[in-house]
Amino acid sequence: TEKTMDKLVALCKGRGFIYPGSEIYGGLANTWDFGPLGVELKNNIKSAWRKKFIQECKYNVGLDSAILMNPQTWVASGHIGGFSDPLMDCKACKTRHRADNLIEDFDGTNCAGWSNEQMMDYIREKGITCPNCGKADFTDIRQFNLMFKTFQGVTEDSKSELYLRPETAQGIFVNFMNIQRTTRKKVPFGVAQVGKSFRNEITPGNFIFRVREFEQMELEFFCKPGTDLDWFYFWKDYCKKWLLSLGINEENLRLRDHDQEELCFYSKATTDFEYLFPFGWGELWGVADRTDYDLTQHIKTSGQKMEYFDPETNEKYVPYVIEPSLGVERLFLAVITEAYDEEQLEDGTTRNVMHFHPYLAPVKAAVLPLSKKLADKAGEIADELSKYFCVDYDDAGAIGKRYRRQDEIGTPFCITYDFDSVEDGCVTVRERDSMKQERMPIADVKKYIEDRIAF
Ligand code: ATP
Repeated sequence: TEKTMDKLVALCKGRGFIYPGSEIYGGLANTWDFGPLGVELKNNIKSAWRKKFIQECKYNVGLDSAILMNPQTWVASGHIGGFSDPLMDCKACKTRHRADNLIEDFDGTNCAGWSNEQMMDYIREKGITCPNCGKADFTDIRQFNLMFKTFQGVTEDSKSELYLRPETAQGIFVNFMNIQRTTRKKVPFGVAQVGKSFRNEITPGNFIFRVREFEQMELEFFCKPGTDLDWFYFWKDYCKKWLLSLGINEENLRLRDHDQEELCFYSKATTDFEYLFPFGWGELWGVADRTDYDLTQHIKTSGQKMEYFDPETNEKYVPYVIEPSLGVERLFLAVITEAYDEEQLEDGTTRNVMHFHPYLAPVKAAVLPLSKKLADKAGEIADELSKYFCVDYDDAGAIGKRYRRQDEIGTPFCITYDFDSVEDGCVTVRERDSMKQERMPIADVKKYIEDRIAF
């Protein structure tokens, strides 16, 4: 199956996964609204993450911190000083570009760690041209801060300035002491949260891959200095296994270690999990050993004590942090890329089917009465099952067509209620991938499906 972005975007819009934002007003570029199926899939992705990283993990606890934070947070984290992209304008056509993107798109060179001068020299030396107008006449590079600024209260002066958080991580760091005290957790332990982040990206695009409003699933794992690299490998492995268990194909995944030049100055080790999207490899998940950088910065900026007292060794120290940070939209895009299939059937026809892991599938089961005369009984089954999981009910059209509609949205089970069902109290359950059908008592259906959507 050839998977293209155009096909995925069309499927998402046509089936109600994702619509262009504010469409009736001509849209707002690079914003997207998650439709009825999209919101289910997205919630299932988040709940699979919370299950694995909080519920099933004895080390970790959850948090839901505020999007608006005291601006000192961003002084401490370095976002006010350093969170910026190198921008240049094309003098000829006035379009704006990221210098590092111009270089990467030109010959694949990754210029992480380069200075602005190095990038400018490279662009001039190679005669790199504007992708919009083809001219090679750029301004110098300026750094552009990626944080969205807003104001709180009635006055719009600098004292009331706030930022929308560009990552969820800082909400965890500022709560480190609160959480440690109230949970009485001993290091090593982690704090995990899912939430919106905002970045005024210069070059959003590739559908939901790079957007300005997105969700992150972040874990900050606090450990004793010296044990950090062991935990770094532990979490890399944990993250990878989780992706594979959700049906991500190992061939479409690569773990790329940052070399010395690419590493942030405070990071001891960083690995990007990259996924082979239809447009090429792109970062899905960043796993980093952030050392004690963040906590130390907050200690300096706030003047508060944020050291951990180890009751076993009677030592005081600032823990090191391992951070796996994953974007919900990026995993969503990986999941639909992975699931998409135009299957050639033996009879020569093509079946469009989304092979979602049943736990992620937006709709778990569709109840399909063979005739509208059977609507009452079939409706009762749908009502009962909908207490436990998302159910669709469809009585319109030929049964084969109805199966295909469910295949297209990745519903793992179709339950057909026919005239025999009235007599024998049984229904036919059809499985999406194998298309195999099995007859079973109505009373068994709930358990049958629950066993198969378990994760
Ligand atoms: P990139 O290099 O792609 O800009 P990044 O290295 O800046 O990403 P991080 O700051 O490490 O990204 O953010 C952690 C994760 O958050 C990323 O791996 C990605 O999944 C997600 N993410 C970051 N920026 C965006 C965005 N603009 N849109 C969607 N997801 C994002």
